[in-house]
Amino acid sequence: MEMRFYESEGSRCGQCGSDLGRQKVWTLVYSDDPPDLVERVRSGTINWARCKHPNCGFEGGWLWPNTFLFIDVQEQRAVCVTLTTAAAQQIDLLREALDSDSIR
Ligand SMILES: [Zn+2]
Repeated sequence: MEMRFYESEGSRCGQCGSDLGRQKVWTLVYSDDPPDLVERVRSGTINWARCKHPNCGFEGGWLWPNTFLFIDVQEQRAVCVTLTTAAAQQIDLLREALDSDSIR
């Protein structure tokens, strides 16, 4: 079976510096995956880590895979989430692959 997530260790809270522990970083989710996982994609909390330090609870911690892809099986659409600094390069690669300039 394809690996659709990887385990991340050593990420630190952006506010207090606490170790965020072992986290599951998703790279690919399908719309027919378990509903709780799909809901995390739809609500925007996938790959989001909350600091567990009792005096902190910082909620701005994100785990950043190079790309995150959500595929809506029924609608046959894909949503790609990536860092803005990587997006231009990735869109260029896509445009080249499709040999088309209709992607803007
Ligand atoms: Zn913290």
